[in-house]
Amino acid sequence: MARVTRLVCDNCGKEVDEAKGAVMRINFTDARRGSKQADLCDACAGKMPGQAVARRGRRPKTAAA
Ligand SMILES: [Zn+2]
Repeated sequence: MARVTRLVCDNCGKEVDEAKGAVMRINFTDARRGSKQADLCDACAGKMPGQAVARRGRRPKTAAA
């Protein structure tokens, strides 16, 4: 019997379809706290706070020096 590992959304508990969903990763600034991550379905991922991050390209110039 083929056992398929089903991904379940850590926020709402719904099953996440393959090739769907998202992983939210929290990296604490305090390295001792490490990091944690959550599997999310598409719906929950969209409701999470945060902003879209460009995958590539240069970062906009911040007020440097
Ligand atoms: Zn969810």
